[in-house]
Amino acid sequence: MVFARIRHWLGLGAREVPSVPDDQWARVEGRLPFLDFLPAEDRPRLRALALEFLAVKQFHGAHGLVLDDDMLLGIALQACLPILNIGLRAYAGWVGVIVYPGDFVIPRREYDEAGVVHEYEDEVLGEAWEGGPVLVSWFEGEAQPAGVNVVIHEFAHKLDMENGGVDGLPRLRAGMSRQAWATAFSEAYEAFCDEVDKGVETEIDPYGSEHPGEFFAVVSEVFFEAPSVLMRHFPQVYAQLRQFYGVDPAAREAMFAETAP
Ligand SMILES: [Zn+2]
Repeated sequence: MVFARIRHWLGLGAREVPSVPDDQWARVEGRLPFLDFLPAEDRPRLRALALEFLAVKQFHGAHGLVLDDDMLLGIALQACLPILNIGLRAYAGWVGVIVYPGDFVIPRREYDEAGVVHEYEDEVLGEAWEGGPVLVSWFEGEAQPAGVNVVIHEFAHKLDMENGGVDGLPRLRAGMSRQAWATAFSEAYEAFCDEVDKGVETEIDPYGSEHPGEFFAVVSEVFFEAPSVLMRHFPQVYAQLRQFYGVDPAAREAMFAETAP
């Protein structure tokens, strides 16, 4: 059943064993160079997890966007990168992934203290609903600067929500200390908000200063995409994320930097 669904989504027809050709993986992964910050031996595990993810989630293209296999694989690989050592169960309880062509508008409704309702439209790159779908925008080509990754951002929110709410405190892994997490994140968040308030041009997306939950999602993007940047600015946060995600991308990035011509 699961295999039939994977085949269907990947357009593989009635083949006996679902498989993605190596050149297709290479093409999709070539657009995600930060995957090289994982040890090479982890790649088959990430690919397998991505296929499992595609089998249990339902994808929809919004505004007429037609989702092709490369897009599905690309989104699945990025969505699964944070849970490679946590497991797919962290994404249980919801099924939808909605993909928009570029950024999109979400109608908001808020009540002020006087009870007056304010309606407005919010332009966003993504959104994660607790117990509901993940919404992400898709940019063809390389429209996103290094260190910005809307898929990782929204799926980090999903991890944060797993233990209720978006508060920047996900369900920590065995052996991790809530105290150490809270100290590292609150100190970094305060320092970061100070910089943003002062108008400093930060290397990390200033959107992270909106809320502790946004800070966790933003530093998760940086952790996977530009790990040395996070290591340089907030080494304690990097250390916590290394334990949480169970990978050490900065070490591999440094290795590449040394061997680069
Ligand atoms: Zn967010």
